[in-house]
Amino acid sequence: MRLSFHGADREVTGSCHLVHCAGRRILIDCGLFQGSRELHEENAEPFGFDPAEIDILLLTHAHLDHCGRIPLLVKRGFRGEIVCTAATRELARLVMLDAGHLQEEEARRRSGRSERHGHYNNEHHAPEQPLYGILDAVNCAEYFGRTAAYGKPLDVAPGIVATFVDAGHILGSASILLELTENGRRRRVLFSGDIGNSGRPLLRNPVVPHDADAVIMESTYGDRLHRPVDTSVTELYAAISDALAQGGDVIIPTFALERAQEILYFLCQGLQQKRLPPHLQVFLDSPMAISATDIFEHHPECYDPDTAELFRGGRDPFAVPGLQFVREAAGSMALDQIRSGALIIAGSGMCTGGRVRHHLKCNLSRANCSVIFVGYAGEGTLARIIINGAKSVRLFGDEVPVKAHIYTIGGFSAHADQRELVAWHKRVGRAELTFLVHGEVKVMQVLASRLENTRVEMPALNSSYDL
Ligand SMILES: [Zn+2]
Ligand SMILES: [Zn+2]
Repeated sequence: MRLSFHGADREVTGSCHLVHCAGRRILIDCGLFQGSRELHEENAEPFGFDPAEIDILLLTHAHLDHCGRIPLLVKRGFRGEIVCTAATRELARLVMLDAGHLQEEEARRRSGRSERHGHYNNEHHAPEQPLYGILDAVNCAEYFGRTAAYGKPLDVAPGIVATFVDAGHILGSASILLELTENGRRRRVLFSGDIGNSGRPLLRNPVVPHDADAVIMESTYGDRLHRPVDTSVTELYAAISDALAQGGDVIIPTFALERAQEILYFLCQGLQQKRLPPHLQVFLDSPMAISATDIFEHHPECYDPDTAELFRGGRDPFAVPGLQFVREAAGSMALDQIRSGALIIAGSGMCTGGRVRHHLKCNLSRANCSVIFVGYAGEGTLARIIINGAKSVRLFGDEVPVKAHIYTIGGFSAHADQRELVAWHKRVGRAELTFLVHGEVKVMQVLASRLENTRVEMPALNSSYDL
């Protein structure tokens, strides 16, 4: 039995781990490296294993850094079975299609640029090829086989039983316990996936399987503590009330998956509890977020008891009174004619692309408008630049002065913080070996110092270990 690491090793994105047992090869996640240009290129590198030899791919959840290299895996010869929860299957399809589309656009944009510079016919500057396109994402669908139900052991292959448990991170997310048998030897290996921040309203708290011989554990926020969700919700309501009182429009840049639905949920609650001004004009201006919200409506089995109860009572927890969905690009453009009182939720969350950039261009220079940031903003992204207090930013070739009010709400993380990660590990019980993945080295070192009764490894890319 062997375990090898092919992504999210001493870094946060690109999750991909391989288990070799009883002659089978089981992959856990196949995510995209995201962030800098170097990481962008890392995606095109060989996987470190032959995709054609993989029998089963177990997918923990639908975030791009966990499913985003699946179309590439299929393109390079994977013909096995993909197993995940029903919600993950639907969300992953959406996420992969969107990624294929974005990569085609990006490749077109880069090719156009070299053409303008006269390099187009130079063999060293052939038109850029996307990592994969929409069709490659569509082609993945046929490899999605059995769906996993939370808590029900699944015989994925002879000698290999997988149990998916709710990780409480995003809709359909799971930690996966593998019970491996080879030549009469048995090992229990637990993959945490991404562990949720407990106490969030929509999802259940993470479920923790006991007794694993080895744990492969995420460590994204292994060095810090989150502020309580309640505090952040109060701040959100105060920011919206304050922003609307300025008389202009309000932009909320947000991720399409989970965060957008969470914001809709908080708006619903805020209106009901009269903690927000009545008669909000809310626009969800993101085809991807609208499709994700539809998927959320199909999966009441994933919710925490209170939210599930709302669904059973026929109440839709995302149906903000007056909410309008904007799918068409023309409708999105038309929103900028509204000069007052519009609350526009649009992607992307870090303002690196998507419709939000257009709204920022129209509204950042208006002193009575506001931008409310509710999510993580990576170094160097437009969101981070605005949050850091830039006096002006470049958008679509123009220098746009920043006069709008900027609010930053910090506590809406979908990830467990240090305290929760340590508690999670403790609840697993004594694990001989703990592999920390999905975190920066400095952060992993801090977390490692807090974990007890285990030997901690921080595997390097393409390293492997006997189990
Ligand atoms: Zn995730
Ligand atoms: Zn992740």
